[in-house]
Amino acid sequence: MARKTLPVLPLRNLVVFPGVVAPVDVGRPRSLKLLESSGQPGARLLLATQRDPDVDDPAFEDFLPIGVEAEVVKLVRVSDTRMTVFLRGSRRVRLCAVKTRDPQLTAEIEALSEIKVDDVELQGLALAVRETAKQSLALGQETPEDGGQVLELVQDPARLADVTAAQLDLSVEEKFALLEDLDVASRLRKVLAHLRHRIEVHKVKEKIDSQVRAEFSKHQREAVLRQKLKAIQEELGETDEGDDLGELEERVEKAAMPPEAEKAAKKQLERLRQMPPQSAEYTVTRTYLDWLIELPWSKTTEDHLDLAEARRVLDEDHYDLEKVKKRMLEYLAVRKLKPDKKGPILCLVGAPGVGKTSLGKSIARALGRQFVRISLGGVRDEAEVRGHRRTYVGALPGRLIQAMRKAGVRNPVFILDELDKIGTDYRGDPASALLEALDPEQNHAFSDHYIEVPFDLSQVLFIGTANQLEPVPPALLDRLEVIELPGYTRSEKLFIAREHLIPKQLREHGLQDHGLSFDDTAVLAIADHYTHEAGVRNLERELASMCRAVAVQVATGEDPKKRIEESDLFPVLGPRKFQSEVAERTEVPGVATGLAVTEAGGDILFIEATRMPSGGSKLILTGQLGDVMKESAQAALTYIRARAEAYGIEPNFFEGHDIHVHVPAGAVPKDGPSAGAAVTAALVSLLTERHVMGDVAMTGEITLRGTVLPVGGIKEKVLAAHRAGIRRVVLPDQNRKDTVDIPEEIRTEMSLVFVKRIDEVLEAVLEPASEGAASRKPPRRPAPTQPSAPVAP
Ligand code: ADP
Repeated sequence: MARKTLPVLPLRNLVVFPGVVAPVDVGRPRSLKLLESSGQPGARLLLATQRDPDVDDPAFEDFLPIGVEAEVVKLVRVSDTRMTVFLRGSRRVRLCAVKTRDPQLTAEIEALSEIKVDDVELQGLALAVRETAKQSLALGQETPEDGGQVLELVQDPARLADVTAAQLDLSVEEKFALLEDLDVASRLRKVLAHLRHRIEVHKVKEKIDSQVRAEFSKHQREAVLRQKLKAIQEELGETDEGDDLGELEERVEKAAMPPEAEKAAKKQLERLRQMPPQSAEYTVTRTYLDWLIELPWSKTTEDHLDLAEARRVLDEDHYDLEKVKKRMLEYLAVRKLKPDKKGPILCLVGAPGVGKTSLGKSIARALGRQFVRISLGGVRDEAEVRGHRRTYVGALPGRLIQAMRKAGVRNPVFILDELDKIGTDYRGDPASALLEALDPEQNHAFSDHYIEVPFDLSQVLFIGTANQLEPVPPALLDRLEVIELPGYTRSEKLFIAREHLIPKQLREHGLQDHGLSFDDTAVLAIADHYTHEAGVRNLERELASMCRAVAVQVATGEDPKKRIEESDLFPVLGPRKFQSEVAERTEVPGVATGLAVTEAGGDILFIEATRMPSGGSKLILTGQLGDVMKESAQAALTYIRARAEAYGIEPNFFEGHDIHVHVPAGAVPKDGPSAGAAVTAALVSLLTERHVMGDVAMTGEITLRGTVLPVGGIKEKVLAAHRAGIRRVVLPDQNRKDTVDIPEEIRTEMSLVFVKRIDEVLEAVLEPASEGAASRKPPRRPAPTQPSAPVAP
């Protein structure tokens, strides 16, 4: 191919493409000289790009091997030392050699021809480039304003590739790669790839931009709203959070927490400072901090451990209860001598209203300590004792910590009420959490799930209470020293009413100066006919009702009553609620009076038996009986069938008959083997038509061979019988030793019959057999000492 020689304009950082007009800034003296001598419009130059832009006076090897032959369009002198020359690239050429360096740099060049193979492919590629370039144009600012029109005008695919390449924002190396590629199709593909890449980059950028913008505007919005809120709060004169936190910090300081707790509190305080006060978490953290601050970490009251004074307080508050008071004083004495002695926990066991809680209160009063009652009845969830973790919605500390805050000091008296009503289920074992609180080895660092930092419970004086002992969880029972409160007799109730309940009620109703008094018969009538309890809670309640009635008279200016007599009860308290029903119930054969231990102490229990003809022979048992009780009824029937003849019962009495045993008061579940004796008596009474006497009650487990075995709760049962007006009780012989617990006064009123065998039971309770028993009314034993008074209308 023909070579020719052209002046060379070296380019530092630039690649000019054929078909494109490009402005070139010129400042090098040698180049300026070149343009002055041969830079008139229309003149031709070689544009050669330097490999290294920093070389001032390039030699042949300093140039990239391919350049562009260009035509000068216009020359503009910018200053003495600068010119701008507009050049139009016309074709690619190869640099063959540098011809001269002085006075002008000239080079020998050789024109290069482009490779165009498949026209259809080129047209397709050109179309793609054009479309994509337009797309790119629409997206961004990279190409000049008129880029779109230029693309429309350029028809030749080779030129299109060059024009587009010139408009792309590429590095010198990338541009040169396009320049040196003589294969037009390949060049178009490269341009297309660059365009696509640009578009992708642009899209990603847009996405990031919009995300940033959204984020920013959210923050901005919140900031503006918060600013407004603050302005509104200030306008309303509401507390400034900053001050609030400052105050909180002061309270943390003042709370005198142990180091671990203080650290936790300060950490939470720090978190609070960084939270927006409107957030839910702020409230949660704030509440937690309040709990930490308000717990009595180091506040205590001083004990006055004066035993004589304690004795005086206990006596002042409670009648009798000698054993209990004595034990309590011993307990206090030991504490006085050895303050850190880890003794057992006292637990008062007895029916409701026997004074368990009020004894606890008295102890607190005697010691000068704070008193808090914690009710554990129905607690099944460990979290109720130990608190919920703070991640729970609405979490709170457990009952112990709540009580601690209520007490406000570290050494209160806690009454743990109703230890026998604690349950266990899938939510954990509350008893074990309680054990940890009671255990002197562990309770100096009791861990509540909510509070998280350990709290010292070792200064607390715990006193437990329960109605019954059996349901108390055994592990807990192990820690307790049980003191039983047996319940009161009539005369004790009378005394308690006179000395304690009535004065207290008069005080509470503002009647102490009115000279109101109660007749003893009225008080006893309330105890007998309006209450049915071992304790005195309902007695107190009914006395309160009477006081209220008089208070109303005083308030309305009526002439108030001075003395309450038995006849005054009905208008205020209504008809009598309880009757001695024993005599009435045993009017017919087949009913016997049993005895049971219940939550309320003890109670009497009627056992009714009846027989009716039927196809088979069934024993029907009703009245919510437990399995043990059912079995003892079975055993009683079997025993009677085996011994029928000896009792004068027709041996085939069961054939063609069903026997039904029912224990009324069906809503109360009953169980235990101690009804065996009474069931046997009821059945024999039914089958022999001999009445069970109306003044006797019985208890005892039976065996198939007719032996009577000992049972529990003797004292409660005898007291219950006494309350019901029964004066004779049949007891298993082996229970003789248990009767020492029965108050002397009751023992003297009761006749206790001890038996070893069922025969002896039957002999003691059944009216004597007589000829033609079925047809005549049997002679009755004397009526019970407590008369079955008629119900008031
Ligand atoms: P508990 O806790 O055993 O159910 P409380 O302690 O609540 O019973 O007693 C009920 C009421 O009976 C209280 O007002 C209490 O002062 C009074 N009480 C009980 N026993 C006596 C007693 N021995 N002497 C004086 N008041 C008593």
